[in-house]
Amino acid sequence: MEMLINGELIDLDEKIDVLNPFNNDIVGTVPLGNSEHIKKAINAANDAKIDLNNMSSRKISEALYNISNEISEKSDDFSKLITLETGKPISAAKDEVKRSVDTFKFAAEESKRIYGESIPLDAGIGGKGFLGFSIKIPLGVVGAITPFNYPLNLAIHKLAPALAAKNAVILKPSLSAPLTAIKLSKIVADYFPKGSMNVVTGRGSVIGDELVSSDLVNKISFTGGVEVGKRISQKAGMKKITLELGGNDPLIVLGDADLDEAVLGAVRGSYLNAGQVCIAVKRLIVDHNVADEFAEKITKKTLKLNVGDPLNPKTDVGPLINVEAASHVENVVNDAIDKGSQLLCGGERKGNIYMPTVLDYVKSEMPVVNSETFGPISPIIRVNGIEEAIKVANDTQYGLQAGIYTENIHHALKAAKEIDAGSVMINKQSTFRTDNMPFGGFKMSGLGKEGLKYAIEDMTRTKLIVLNTN
Ligand code: NAD
Repeated sequence: MEMLINGELIDLDEKIDVLNPFNNDIVGTVPLGNSEHIKKAINAANDAKIDLNNMSSRKISEALYNISNEISEKSDDFSKLITLETGKPISAAKDEVKRSVDTFKFAAEESKRIYGESIPLDAGIGGKGFLGFSIKIPLGVVGAITPFNYPLNLAIHKLAPALAAKNAVILKPSLSAPLTAIKLSKIVADYFPKGSMNVVTGRGSVIGDELVSSDLVNKISFTGGVEVGKRISQKAGMKKITLELGGNDPLIVLGDADLDEAVLGAVRGSYLNAGQVCIAVKRLIVDHNVADEFAEKITKKTLKLNVGDPLNPKTDVGPLINVEAASHVENVVNDAIDKGSQLLCGGERKGNIYMPTVLDYVKSEMPVVNSETFGPISPIIRVNGIEEAIKVANDTQYGLQAGIYTENIHHALKAAKEIDAGSVMINKQSTFRTDNMPFGGFKMSGLGKEGLKYAIEDMTRTKLIVLNTN
């Protein structure tokens, strides 16, 4: 597949293969763009600003609705491509496409609600007789950098609000899964003026750096790991940034919890997309009183999961994105076992597949839980009561989302108040997300919020206009 720059499809001799993580077959190739291509895309986006600004909000909204419909019509193609290039089970890929259709609809709705306000200037000294109102204007050009794990919906969470607020976009997708993003960008580009939607493929350290440090780009919206996020914040200079980074989300299960519900939440949260989700449940913090029963129940459920070919509609857990990722999971699990954790099931790697694994008696300081492990793991940390549970939940550099299962309202509210994370779910696991909610973490999990209304707010500038009526 080609890059899309200023309305033209660009191919190059230098290419990179995109591999199917399940069988290592080549799914497609993309050109390895360089700084010259990103500069062209930045210039094209800047040139597109006038025509884009001339589109009425009504036309923008119609375009976004039309794109939503087109994605819906092509949902089978999109789902299959997501599965082929990421290894995500087809049922989960279909869910991602459904949500993507919705994300564009939210953007279409929000594009009609970009309001300024009137300001009571006469409340200030010297303001008598002055009338002030603010308008929201576009930033100009938004650079969108995306990871491999949700190649469609996470790209849309950047380009849909950007276009809704009349900004031109340059998308740099992950080289592990760029095909879905290119297919999407081609559709989007047809509905907007030439140069408004560009997609450039290449190495993060080359084209990503160029995009981030350019003075002709007004905002970087990044989703990915903490290390790259830190680098972006150092290189971005005087531009806005949104960073949606990693997570180490806890799920607390107290002694009074509905255990069957908690186990269901834990299984859904730990194994979704083989654990390669920023808001996956990465630590199970379980009260001693119910830990034996919880461990037994989650092991039973984990052993029932179908593992294998992600194109099979019955598959629950597919491969990890590549063998390095699977080997990393293998290493941290083995390390935990060496240090005294008890393996209840799984613990085995077959190529890029890592078997769903339950580990008991895990300690907070073990690498399997003290940084983000992107794999199908349920590590149980046993605690005594709510105080210790919250202390352990907060014992991490991350703070994306969190969940607690309890029937005690006081404990639920205490956890909601004291857990230092962007969202806290009560009687639900952290993988809960609707596409209109304010989404984004605290601490090292990021900066700013996504969710259409919130992303649009951050992709506009406020201009004040003052009338002298004296
Ligand atoms: P990654 O950080 O390795 O890569 C993300 C993107 O950054 C890719 O497009 C990559 O090419 C690009 N990049 C690399 N170096 C760059 C540089 N110097 N300048 C600019 N861009 C550069 O992440 P990944 O492995 O693709 O994805 C997994 C990570 O993403 C996990 O940590 C996960 O938690 C996080 N994530 C967060 C969210 C969220 O919303 N908070 C959602 C999904 C994934």
